[in-house]
Amino acid sequence: MRLILLGPPGAGKGTQAKFLVERLQIPQISTGDMLRAAVKDGTPLGRDAKQYMDRGALVPDEIIIGLVRERLQRPDCARGYILDGFPRTVTQAEALGKTLEALHASLDHVVSLEVPTEDLVLRIAGRRTCRNCGAMYHVRFSPSQTDGRCDACGGPTYQREDDREETVRRRLAVYADQTAPLISLYEAQGLLRRVPGTGEIGEIFHRITTALGA
Ligand code: ADP
Ligand code: ADP
Ligand code: ZN
Repeated sequence: MRLILLGPPGAGKGTQAKFLVERLQIPQISTGDMLRAAVKDGTPLGRDAKQYMDRGALVPDEIIIGLVRERLQRPDCARGYILDGFPRTVTQAEALGKTLEALHASLDHVVSLEVPTEDLVLRIAGRRTCRNCGAMYHVRFSPSQTDGRCDACGGPTYQREDDREETVRRRLAVYADQTAPLISLYEAQGLLRRVPGTGEIGEIFHRITTALGA
């Protein structure tokens, strides 16, 4: 199954993707995670991307498109994948369409996670991520058992640089401007599955799997 998780920053894409990986046995492809790994490793890509990420701006399309195109051709993508945080612009969506066509593949579903803006701000402000394994926590909504430590691997949890309030506002505006148009684009293609993204994490997962028939 090839699917896209679409939704604003903080909607729960990463959280739900982790459960979907288990259920569907296909990889999560998170462009945000790929970029953060490149920044951490200090690669030329990471150095380029960081200036945009720190400002809450999008990394230029040509960089992201090349990255994803290469990733989709790896063997673990043969049975499908979950795209998390890509595509984020109409140009990226068009490039994805062309890449899929060249691979004789097509998308099965685009899940649109819908969460009110006030909730997004609260979620992002309290988000903590494990530096080691990427597990996601929230200081109020899903805290780790020991403050600052990951339940899964014991690694340190941290607050992303771009999760500070000023940058969050900017990212939400960028989403509304550049990414939200993808909703009607995929709706027109008959691929859109709208899923309310508020409530218990397990309940939202159930809504998603029902929408996918999985
Ligand atoms: P969130 O889901 O909280 O918005 P991500 O981890 O998906 O965060 O993305 C973090 C940052 O990485 C974005 O603000 C942007 O700078 C960059 N980024 C991630 N994916 C893309 C993409 N598809 N196109 C452009 N920039 C991206
Ligand atoms: P995204 O990948 O869309 O940016 P995340 O999955 O990182 O979003 O979730 C953002 C924050 O909200 C995290 O701290 C996560 O623990 C928390 N979160 C995820 N789902 C829910 C939910 N249903 N209710 C409350 N908080 C949630
Ligand atoms: Zn961990």
